[in-house]
Amino acid sequence: MYYLHFRPQQPGQINIGSGCVGCDACVSCCPQKALDATDGQVKLVGECNGCGDCVNGCPTETLKL
Ligand code: SF4
Ligand code: SF4
Repeated sequence: MYYLHFRPQQPGQINIGSGCVGCDACVSCCPQKALDATDGQVKLVGECNGCGDCVNGCPTETLKL
């Protein structure tokens, strides 16, 4: 039997939507220190491991995996 493993949390696959308000919440909760929001818009600046902590911590729900 063939099993297809779906991995919704792919490394480096963070999707930053347009609703970022630069609150820094995701930056603080990223264990990889992979996010930066110093210019008011969050950017992926490091290696994302797909943990999803930033998605859960974003108050505007603009981050998706
Ligand atoms: S999914 Fe995890 S490692 Fe990736 S940017 Fe978000 S908090 Fe950081
Ligand atoms: S938590 Fe959400 S709104 Fe706040 S800086 Fe990160 S992406 Fe932007």
